[in-house]
Amino acid sequence: MTGQITLRDLASIDVEVLKGVGEKRKAALAEYGINNVLELLTNYPRKWVDRTNEARVSDLVAGQEALVIVEVRKVSKFTTKNRKTIVNVQVGDESGRLTAVFFNQPWRERQLKVGLQLAMFGKPDLFRGVLQMSNPLVDLIGDRTGRIVPIYPQSEKVQVSTWELATWVENALERCRERGISDPLPSDLRERLELADRTSALWSIHFPDSMVAKQNARRRLAFDELLRVQVVLVGRKRAFELDSTGIRHIVGGKLQQRFISALPFAVTGAQQRVINEIDQDLAASHPMHRLLQGDVGSGKTVVAVSAMLAAVQGRHQGALMAPTEVLAEQHFAGVQKLLEGLLVPDDDNLFGDRQLRVELLTSRITSERRRELLRDLANGGIDILIGTHALIQEGVEFASLGVVVIDEQHRFGVEQRAALRNKGSKTAKSVMTSPDVLVMTATPIPRTAAMTVYGDLDVSVLDEMPPGRTPIKTLWVAGEKSETKMWSDVREAAAQGQQAFVVCPLIEESDKLQVASAEDTFKLLAKTELKGLKLGLLHGRMSSKEKDETMTKFRDRQLDVLVATTVIEVGVDVPNATCMVVLDADRFGIAQLHQLRGRVGRGVIASRCWLVTSDPEVSSPRVDALVESTDGFYLAEVDLELRGEGTIMNTAQKGRSDLKLASLRRDRDLIELARAAAIEIIVGDPTLTSHKEIRDEIDLLLTPDEEEFLFKN
Ligand code: ADP
Ligand code: MG
Repeated sequence: MTGQITLRDLASIDVEVLKGVGEKRKAALAEYGINNVLELLTNYPRKWVDRTNEARVSDLVAGQEALVIVEVRKVSKFTTKNRKTIVNVQVGDESGRLTAVFFNQPWRERQLKVGLQLAMFGKPDLFRGVLQMSNPLVDLIGDRTGRIVPIYPQSEKVQVSTWELATWVENALERCRERGISDPLPSDLRERLELADRTSALWSIHFPDSMVAKQNARRRLAFDELLRVQVVLVGRKRAFELDSTGIRHIVGGKLQQRFISALPFAVTGAQQRVINEIDQDLAASHPMHRLLQGDVGSGKTVVAVSAMLAAVQGRHQGALMAPTEVLAEQHFAGVQKLLEGLLVPDDDNLFGDRQLRVELLTSRITSERRRELLRDLANGGIDILIGTHALIQEGVEFASLGVVVIDEQHRFGVEQRAALRNKGSKTAKSVMTSPDVLVMTATPIPRTAAMTVYGDLDVSVLDEMPPGRTPIKTLWVAGEKSETKMWSDVREAAAQGQQAFVVCPLIEESDKLQVASAEDTFKLLAKTELKGLKLGLLHGRMSSKEKDETMTKFRDRQLDVLVATTVIEVGVDVPNATCMVVLDADRFGIAQLHQLRGRVGRGVIASRCWLVTSDPEVSSPRVDALVESTDGFYLAEVDLELRGEGTIMNTAQKGRSDLKLASLRRDRDLIELARAAAIEIIVGDPTLTSHKEIRDEIDLLLTPDEEEFLFKN
């Protein structure tokens, strides 16, 4: 091999070439998850111990926590009368000595060999005149010298020591020196972004001269991880745009104008901005692929309808897909109301206008009516069709589908979006045109996270609520006294003709237990706190007919209180419901609580939401966040802070991921830089012909599984 060493080269070198790796160490490394030199070099330290920062043993003070670097001098183990093991370890540095005592950790005897260097953290006490630390935190440094020592992830099962790993890493990097490790990043880009070069980043992440050098190394290597993901996403997006022909829609036409001016309210600044963003996409020759993020109640429907009307203006059709039948029906009612009396310019018509036609298609539509709808859809008699996934089933043919809106309370997959693209129509030249696609979500995720999860879409945000809403008051309730007050407030609201939701404790493990919990709560409340009120019960095991009946009763005010499981999380719209009680609120996630709370606050009367937890002494950070804010984007940020990546990337995915250093939470600036860099690279070189090494690293490091994940989610 000649030339600079690539990551693929490193991946092809077995660890057995390293000094000191024989059969046994090779097997241990394999168990640890390292088979080749690339895996060794990207097994990054879990932390770094800066020896110059540590205390000397003679400086230790009883009762004050400290970190010391010491050498193991003597180890003894014994068992107490009540059969507990104690491992007693004498350690020291040149300034003095100290005892470490480990209770019930018999394996310490094997781990802490005489002569080893340890970084030990704990609170020393004076015991019989000698300083002693009980169960200190220990990191093995081995016999490594140097100012800053890397500490690698350890597992008890696999006996590979952190200093062995460090030695092999050093050996591997030394042996790369002559040929050099290649750097796929264009040097002008690297300089502009002030990123370290790859070779020095690899040295410094393992053996930094200073903590600053380590930070810089991390920044570069994390950037590489993010860049690979972004290049895939941006590349995919670009390919859609280049491959598919869209419709150049007529934007700002009569229909959109009539619609906006007929609204009983003025659109918000955010709505206007997003409508403009969408119009720009619609007017362009390639199909739109846009995500619309907006909190519950931010007015996404108006934006969606405006987009569909641009299609209708040019004699194409619009489709709106909802995740459930109930939501489809709700959308249908809402859209019909918004479009009431709207006339479509029609030159074939003697009067120059005709009524716009909106229809609903769900599985509940009977076969004769269904046939009729399908016929009119195919001959262009229907302008806007609303429904569930059923809309992308076989046999549903549009005359000319122009704009598709996907209301994605639960994320639709990429396959579904792809299926929609194929619902386009043939133009005169018999070229397949793809409809423009707008995906709406009411679960806001932070901007930079959206770049990763929805990276193949453009993103618009409705970040302003329509005026005139009475904010929801959220209260944390714990303890008998405040619960009693809460129920009396609910009864009082009911006496004034308002309605309430009570959400039952969440039991994730079992559907059956969840239903039982709902039934118990229902029975208990009917006998006690809410005695005398009309209560209804709603849960996931009821048939859709039963659910509908209950919902209808509630909507018609035949029920005061709806005791429900999270089935009400999605979309139920009852403006007269002003009270929301969530029992065991600390069991729910932030996003879920936010969605639940969105069920109230839809009318003119001020709404309240009570979040009930059991311990009056300890609140939950999630409940606190809900009490503090009703802003979905703010809450999404808090959620990301509290839960980390798991919120967005599923956990199974994370372990295998190429994102070893980069974090959606901590590296927001890097994500933006990586996105911008990816766009720059892809725009100039869509097939990565002159960025072969980046392409090769993507093939090497992002498994098809992972790429799939990026799009499926
Ligand atoms: P979302 O789908 O984002 O949850 P909707 O589109 O259902 O929100 O709108 C929520 C409510 O706000 C509806 O009753 C709608 O008519 C109303 N609305 C939408 N835009 C405005 C506006 N600019 N001013 C006042 N009310 C609005
Ligand atoms: Mg809505």
